[in-house]
Amino acid sequence: MSSATTYIQSIMDLAKSRNAGEPEFLQAVTEVLESLLPVLEQTPKYREHHILERIIEPERVIIFRVPWIDDKGQIQVNRAFRIEMNSAIGPYKGGLRFHPSVNLSILKFLAFEQVFKNSLTTLPMGGGKGGADFDPKGKSDNEVMRFCQSFMTELSRHIGPNTDIPAGDIGVGGREIGYLFGQYKRLRNEFTGVLTGKNIRWGGSLIRPEATGYGAVYFAQNMLATQNDSIEGKICAVSGSGNVAQFTVEKVNQLGGKCVTLSDSGGTIYDPHGIDDEKLSYVMELKNVRRGRIKEYADTFKGVQYYEGKRPWGVTCDCAFPSATQNEISEEDAKTLVKNGCKLVSEGANMPTEAGGVDVFLEAKVLYGPGKAANAGGVAVSGLEMAQNATHTNWSREEVDGRLQYIMESIHQQAKEAAGRYGMGGNYVAGANIAGFVKVADSMIDQGAV
Ligand code: NDP
Repeated sequence: MSSATTYIQSIMDLAKSRNAGEPEFLQAVTEVLESLLPVLEQTPKYREHHILERIIEPERVIIFRVPWIDDKGQIQVNRAFRIEMNSAIGPYKGGLRFHPSVNLSILKFLAFEQVFKNSLTTLPMGGGKGGADFDPKGKSDNEVMRFCQSFMTELSRHIGPNTDIPAGDIGVGGREIGYLFGQYKRLRNEFTGVLTGKNIRWGGSLIRPEATGYGAVYFAQNMLATQNDSIEGKICAVSGSGNVAQFTVEKVNQLGGKCVTLSDSGGTIYDPHGIDDEKLSYVMELKNVRRGRIKEYADTFKGVQYYEGKRPWGVTCDCAFPSATQNEISEEDAKTLVKNGCKLVSEGANMPTEAGGVDVFLEAKVLYGPGKAANAGGVAVSGLEMAQNATHTNWSREEVDGRLQYIMESIHQQAKEAAGRYGMGGNYVAGANIAGFVKVADSMIDQGAV
């Protein structure tokens, strides 16, 4: 066993003993550490500076109570978190998730992934993540507002435009960012770029809502281009029906592909005719305004099947865009996708594929773009929103979209080159982890033991 293998094993043991009961965090740490083996073998300084011991330990974790009053006048209490994971290359940056499943393990995995993702964007952003076990589903706008105000009353002590800049994630869209921003402004008496994903009327960036979905499709295009192929004519399976899923469908349509599925936590719709722009407008109204269930799509359009409680991975497709949540593609699902001819997976969601499923894709030589590379477009345009806020300017759609395309191309190139350099050509998982890690690790060494 090489000394690098022993070092990685000792760090895994440390991670397991310190973070027992945090399976998602340990899953994310295992995936990254395993792919760093060749780097650690060739570069002893990372071990000498105890980089792995430090990089798996959040710089700061804040856990707080969020009391709020529901429409019946009753006091409700939720638990909230902010994980400030790593600030070696910039202020903490990462989204807020409001979902009943939110816990320390999930947010630490997301914050850990964010560190490497943000590094890949080429922009100066550290990694963080936060949220609460609050479920916006079935709540009135007033209840959501009161929750957001109480949440921000505490969070505002810990964030700032040069310290920690949250954004949206599952359950935190334009409405929630508005309420959060309003309360921060009121408490601090300052109008700054403390959050991204803001409305364009009050400091937001054009293309930010589109950025994650568009970026995942641009990443897919870059992968396909290595085989002289493109999205045109491809049948695509998309999961989720929220922000990332919606703009994935929009971009696939623009590039001449056809999306045949969408889903939510209730089930999956299969539309063999394709979710064209008109049907997508229906979905946007259903999900963003009426806040209904995807099942209604099958009741509205002809020839559509609804699979209650099922995920989309049983359909025949060329490309898959998982865009709902973590661990939504099991090893079995991955095998089914490969068997049915799926040649590309571009992850809009964070860690949607279980470890066994990742191995299936890599073995089958599927073009597999892991979330930390493929969905980095969202945080990249958040970085561009910060740049616009700091310079009090607004860029046009074309300017932001052009920069997004350039950044996705650069992330693809970095991941491809890093994988090739260490003899793992075509493995974007290893490439993204290595390229993201090296910049952060070298910056940590530059800044000493802090
Ligand atoms: P939204 O809240 O807009 O949409 C989430 C979608 O996923 C909904 O359709 C939701 O269904 C479904 N979903 C969520 N949790 C589950 C679950 N446990 N089981 C089944 N379905 C579920 O979130 P986003 O579109 O913003 O985020 C989707 C994914 O993309 C997440 O993994 C997020 O971390 C990732 N991501 C998002 C970015 C962004 O900019 N927004 C940036 C980078 C990554 P339902 O309504 O029934 O819950």
